[in-house]
Amino acid sequence: MNKSLKIFAPATVANLSCGFDVLGCCLDTVGDEMVVSLTSEPGVTITKIEGADLPMETHKNVAGVAVEALLKSYNEAIGVNIEIYKNIKAGSGIGSSAASSAGAVWAVNHLLNNPFTKHQLVAFAMEGEKLASGNAHADNVAPALLGGFTLVRSYNPLDVIKLNTPKDLMMTVIHPQIEVKTSDSRSVIKHNVSLKKAIQQWGNVGGLVAGLFTEDYQLIGRSLEDVIIEPLRSILIPEFEAVKEAAISKGALGCGISGSGPSIFALSKGEETANIVANTIREVYNKTGLEFDIHVSKINNEGIKILSH
Ligand code: ADP
Repeated sequence: MNKSLKIFAPATVANLSCGFDVLGCCLDTVGDEMVVSLTSEPGVTITKIEGADLPMETHKNVAGVAVEALLKSYNEAIGVNIEIYKNIKAGSGIGSSAASSAGAVWAVNHLLNNPFTKHQLVAFAMEGEKLASGNAHADNVAPALLGGFTLVRSYNPLDVIKLNTPKDLMMTVIHPQIEVKTSDSRSVIKHNVSLKKAIQQWGNVGGLVAGLFTEDYQLIGRSLEDVIIEPLRSILIPEFEAVKEAAISKGALGCGISGSGPSIFALSKGEETANIVANTIREVYNKTGLEFDIHVSKINNEGIKILSH
């Protein structure tokens, strides 16, 4: 047995302002590559990681942990080897760990002729997320696996819904090269929310979901508001308010923190606006003297893609 697959494992933007831990979407031109093979020796090995300094031990790497969760539910003893070619920096807030977890389980499932549904794969990939952040969240792995925009309606039982992708939506993402630990960005969050803020927040989640389905770009823009997490977390991100103001003044529908940061995302209608937004964000960040990357991407409605067999 020596079947092998090379895949594209996409970056993802979680939360999307109002949807902390429940909303996410999949990017198209930003992501890792992985080569996943079935081998004759049962067990999971990771033999190559390029582009990042990450653990090769199966139980310390999210890809290994996610595949082990899958194999536990599969009745035959299977051998899997993984090679990871990283482009998404760990800790960037655009789903670096999720790309590896989701990519690995998706590829193994494909090589085994799809015994599991994509929704089952979300649960396996969440085990990788648990290793990365201590919390088995699905808001990055779900869009990586299902593509487009996803909503985690419930964690217990897990209920993940794929939403509609309006065709002109484009994402601009800036990744300032500063380290914000997921644990730090979680520690600034308050655990109690006032009813007043909760009402605003779930109004916005409903508005965003409705806007995505009706392809009402103005409604999407109005709904990209976070009154709970962003006010607390944004203080960890240099020039967050200036970036947001500049992006919206140049036509972005909305702008917020990507995942747990430090990346900042802006959604726009059309590629031209997304590029103008990228330029204005670049101008803001050039003044800080910090290193940064900027990506402009379509929304990837497909998710993980096969590059070669
Ligand atoms: P992001 O939000 O960009 O996914 P996280 O902080 O959630 O970043 O996850 C990165 C953490 O997961 C790091 O501590 C990293 O060492 C760990 N990790 C383990 N395996 C991987 C992997 N294959 N890819 C990325 N991160 C991994």
